[in-house]
Amino acid sequence: MKKTKIVATIGPASEDEKTLKKMIESGMNVARINFSHGNHEWNARIIKSIRKLALEMEKSVGILADLQGPRVRVQTAENINARKGEKILVSDISFKKMIADFSFNIFYLDCPGIIKSIKEGEEILIEDGTIKIKVIKKEKCLLKAEVVSGGMIRNRKGVNIPGVKLNLSSTTSKDKKDLDFALKHDVDFIALSFVESAKDIVDLRKKIEKKLGKNKKYPQIIAKIEKREAIKNLDEIVKTSDAVMVARGDLGIEINESKVIVLQKKIIACSLENLRPVIVATQMLDSMIKNPRPTRAEVSDVSNAVIDHADAVMLSGETASGKYPVESVKTMKEIIEDTEESPFDDIYKFLDFNISSDYATIIRSAYELAKSFNAEAILMISVSGFTAKLVSHFRPEQKILMATNSQKSFNQSSLVWGVDGYLFNPKDKLDGLIEKMIKKAKSEKKLKKGDKIVIILGKIPHGEKMRLVGVKKIN
Ligand code: PGA
Ligand code: MN
Repeated sequence: MKKTKIVATIGPASEDEKTLKKMIESGMNVARINFSHGNHEWNARIIKSIRKLALEMEKSVGILADLQGPRVRVQTAENINARKGEKILVSDISFKKMIADFSFNIFYLDCPGIIKSIKEGEEILIEDGTIKIKVIKKEKCLLKAEVVSGGMIRNRKGVNIPGVKLNLSSTTSKDKKDLDFALKHDVDFIALSFVESAKDIVDLRKKIEKKLGKNKKYPQIIAKIEKREAIKNLDEIVKTSDAVMVARGDLGIEINESKVIVLQKKIIACSLENLRPVIVATQMLDSMIKNPRPTRAEVSDVSNAVIDHADAVMLSGETASGKYPVESVKTMKEIIEDTEESPFDDIYKFLDFNISSDYATIIRSAYELAKSFNAEAILMISVSGFTAKLVSHFRPEQKILMATNSQKSFNQSSLVWGVDGYLFNPKDKLDGLIEKMIKKAKSEKKLKKGDKIVIILGKIPHGEKMRLVGVKKIN
């Protein structure tokens, strides 16, 4: 059984229920809906299908709504064939009517006011960095630039301007509508693109709180690390978020590609220290968009993320628009399983983390106990999912079986390394859950007679809150 979770992006290649079912069977734990594409009607249909399948299959499948964030795009009425060495003009849509200089080709950026924060000497990258132009002169609302790498500049193509602080309050009007939709559909995770500082996360959390009111289990917020600015503010962003994504696609454009793998390790280490689930994303099995088998380099990439102890690895185009969505999930699962069996999957250097509490110490002893008893599993009741997250932090060899009576915690356990969630009726008394879970795990062949298990129990009767750790032999 694999421990590292798989996030798969849903798109036209995976929209029908049969394919979704096969993907869940093959190891997809979290379904990502990318709000940069698709419409609300389509999104609603996907969410409905996944909820239905998860219920039928009794699986914890998380739904992740990925907000586009302040993504800058090209606006142009016609395609512009930009050749190396040529001059080109750039402005933003707020100045469109004021520009009279048409001696060169011109295109606009769809963010009003952004021109003000772009300086001479800076580079503007278009379409995943394939086209590059450099600003040579700035005149108020107009940039004169030179084409460094040429190509066809098309309407709506994505733009990256490395180093420029966007500061466009991270929720655009599109994001606002998408956020409302996501909350209405009770998603489990909300990812925010192009985060620059902790404030972006705080603002989003406030919006969620305002919309949902108090006393509700909120979706967890995932900070997508894909800007220079985010790397600068990494620690505060990680601490403020619930989970983190190494968004290598844009990160590789905003910062040199050769630095991405080192940053990946840094972001993962920072997330582990702060007990935040972390996803490694983008182009993991990219060639499987077209081919049934991955390249050696891609296999290494997935293996390496597992060895880095990421909680999850992600598929994008491979499952959203590729020819082999199910095979991509299966391949990823195979790589994860083979890597997790290897001696390189060694956690010791990550064992320290920033929370020092009595509770964390108790969980550490549960982990040590499981090791010395050669236990098959660590079982717990975790209403919020926090205990399971703590256990997962130690990346134990044992199965991590978490019983909960909260649907949201059950869904959110889909992103946490190694955690196998069991959902019970909210009316069930907590006391009986462990017995029920053992019975269920036995029927699923995850536990058998004679196995030793370590149990972490929360509150016990007689009023006083206590944590108990015990060992039990299955009979
Ligand atoms: P995206 O994010 O696919 O939404 O752009 C991931 C990335 O940039 O890697
Ligand atoms: Mn991105």
